Amino acid sequence: MSTDYRPMWEELGIDLEAHDTLMQVLGQGYKDVYHSQENRPEGMKYLDFVITEVHGLRIKELVDARAEGRKVVGTFCVFVPEELVLAVHGICVGLCAGAPWGLEEAERYLPRNTCSLIKGFFGFQLGKVCPYMLASDLIVGENTCDGKKKAYEIFAEHVSDLFVMDMPQMKSEEGRAILRSEYVKFLKKLEDVSGRTITVDSLREGIRTVNGKRGALHRLSRLRAADPAPISGLDALLANQISFYDDPPRFTDSINKICDELEKRIEAGQGVRPKGAPRILMSGCPMAIPNWKVPHIVESSTKAVIVGEESCVGERGTRNLVDDSGGSVEALVENIVDRYFEIDCAVFTPNPGRLEHVREMAKDLKADGVIHYGLQFCHPYQIEAGPVERALEKDGIPVLRIDTDYSQEDVEQIRTRVEAFVERIEG
Ligand code: SF4
Ligand code: SF4
Repeated sequence: MSTDYRPMWEELGIDLEAHDTLMQVLGQGYKDVYHSQENRPEGMKYLDFVITEVHGLRIKELVDARAEGRKVVGTFCVFVPEELVLAVHGICVGLCAGAPWGLEEAERYLPRNTCSLIKGFFGFQLGKVCPYMLASDLIVGENTCDGKKKAYEIFAEHVSDLFVMDMPQMKSEEGRAILRSEYVKFLKKLEDVSGRTITVDSLREGIRTVNGKRGALHRLSRLRAADPAPISGLDALLANQISFYDDPPRFTDSINKICDELEKRIEAGQGVRPKGAPRILMSGCPMAIPNWKVPHIVESSTKAVIVGEESCVGERGTRNLVDDSGGSVEALVENIVDRYFEIDCAVFTPNPGRLEHVREMAKDLKADGVIHYGLQFCHPYQIEAGPVERALEKDGIPVLRIDTDYSQEDVEQIRTRVEAFVERIEG
């Protein structure tokens, strides 16, 4: 018999009726997108289970952890160091919403021409359907793009504790100093909220846990360079999406098991598509769960396979590990700053590192084409799509630019463009 989570949801303040509708839509969407795939690795069953229990068992774990005095910290950006949260024995969860929920409510506070990601997290909170937001003791915003930074001013009125982190805009010495000083402020905030003091040992342990998770995701990315590709882009995207919610050691273990299985597939020459199938790299805005729209179109309507994501829910978010050597909290914080300051989000200006990384990924993963995914009204990524396209086309790699939102209205139009693009790269 399945567990009844309704009393727990009610206690968190969930709108049960709206939540039922959301869960039905999500459950059906997941079935249509994920269960229709063939030849999935056995290990994906664990991630299927996590999705089935995404508002159930995992939330119960958060509620139980809070009852033991642990703090839950909700975040929207890969610039927020999970290492620091773990160092106060906290739990970090991603709050970006990938579905168009509560749009009307959100548009009472935000202009229509705000990107779907921002409207999404507003809609989920205003509609009281996200148990992760409601279970968070502290929510962290960051001054990255203008949309987010202005939206947090209003969002602060709708959550109990919002900590906004300032962000540099340039990769200069001064920029690095800003990031460092903001991380120190965040560390102090975490100590206040949790009533714990970060020690060298607790921080080193946090670093090692997150390195373990990123290491497993790096291994997964490298295996996708094989031809035939051993895993679909949709499944690899799901692994990256779930990395923001699941218990880190359990997640790391499950991804390593999937990688063991993929290694065997590669050895046996097995893949999710035949050898020589067109290979696509996705690049651009993050795809938060359950945003599977474009990857689903690519992999269900064409013979192509997605072999990588140059995205914050993907390689931009996981690239590089934190050096865990250092004899003081200050030294370890420096190492954290070193790692995070390398993230090449389009909010930085100029941002040549991202162009280099897209080119490098396309080469390493043997991509035949790149789809640049931009959310409408996201100026940083939509504007940077031009330089990305020019850099790749210099290397002879064709690019398709797709600007879209969370609605399903443009699915047919995108399908037609994606089909034509794949035909073009097939030659
Ligand atoms: S795209 Fe930029 S603002 Fe968005 S999650 Fe990534 S680093 Fe943060
Ligand atoms: S997708 Fe673009 S506009 Fe939207 S929150 Fe991210 S950086 Fe800002």
